[in-house]
Amino acid sequence: EQRRTRYWVEAHKLAAKLYQHVLLQTDEGKEAKQYLEERGFDEETIKEFQLGFAPDSWDFLTSFLSKRNYNMDEMIEAGLLARRDFDGKPFDRFRGRIMFPIWDRKGQTVGFSGRVLGSGHPKYMNSPESDLFNKSQLLYAFNRARPSIRKKNEVILFEGYADVISAYRVGIGNGVASMGTALTDRQIKMLKRNADKAVLCFDFDDAGQNATYKNAEMLESAGMNVRVAKLEEGLDPDDYINRHGGKKFKEEVLEGSLTLMGFKFRYFRKGLNLQDEGDQIEYVEKMLSEVSKLNRAVERDHYIRQLAEEFNLSLDALKQELIQIYKRRK
Ligand code: ATP
Ligand code: MN
Ligand code: MN
Ligand code: MN
Repeated sequence: EQRRTRYWVEAHKLAAKLYQHVLLQTDEGKEAKQYLEERGFDEETIKEFQLGFAPDSWDFLTSFLSKRNYNMDEMIEAGLLARRDFDGKPFDRFRGRIMFPIWDRKGQTVGFSGRVLGSGHPKYMNSPESDLFNKSQLLYAFNRARPSIRKKNEVILFEGYADVISAYRVGIGNGVASMGTALTDRQIKMLKRNADKAVLCFDFDDAGQNATYKNAEMLESAGMNVRVAKLEEGLDPDDYINRHGGKKFKEEVLEGSLTLMGFKFRYFRKGLNLQDEGDQIEYVEKMLSEVSKLNRAVERDHYIRQLAEEFNLSLDALKQELIQIYKRRK
């Protein structure tokens, strides 16, 4: 079984090399290279993250691997190739896509995520799940970020590959990305083992904010100190860095990060009209219930005061309400 894994890893390594060669050295890769350059990914970055391009062909990788006597059935199972329905013949799984190699903790290439050039569906296509490529155990770029995570005692969690890469380009080396799914216990352990602090830096859209809430709660329950980066204007971190530069990203987005509670004060406003009495009560109730989960009295006090002030309520009333919440919970 280990021999088999090694065989698959070796094929992935070879494929990554080949895809990068196509991107950097051939005509077929020109458009992709230009696209990446327009997005701010220069040649150095491309090499650093081993980005490549899978040409728009059914048999490019297939014939390459076949000529080197790779077992086609194995390559299909490994997810590099796919099998044609009507005659069972292998063909290239990734076609016309920018290739992001995905590494495991040891830095071995265990899968790919391929992005379409420009717009198109699906935007990203991943290697299929296998013993080797197990998304629930992987965090993008964890292997390269780990030393920096340990040194800073902090990890920055992004949504996308491009975000990790752009952050790296501007000197932020402790970034990793979950791969489009909610964090698993396994991934949380990986993070917690290496740092006490986590900063969530997801896209500023509904999906990103919902994911932030969910992941933040999990990380906090696991005992990590969680903050939420302050992104705005509907941008994702990669967009933000490209538009405003790394300095501003660090100063405004990262250093301006909110505590988890601060994030919730914003998050739960969504969809409510706080001029409306009913909505206002609903919001205050929701926030009090969040406040009630805090362990430290000074913290609770701080946020109750904040609520009292914003909505012009008496501190006493809020404290009474909090007591009711505790009673109901028992
Ligand atoms: P880009 O900047 O290239 O448009 P992105 O990283 O901003 O990409 P998002 O749409 O924000 O892309 O998605 C975030 C992450 O979710 C991606 O990096 C990828 O890991 C994952 N993802 C997105 N779409 C898919 C998909 N169709 N299948 C699997 N994973 C996906
Ligand atoms: Mn997104
Ligand atoms: Mn995004
Ligand atoms: Mn993006």
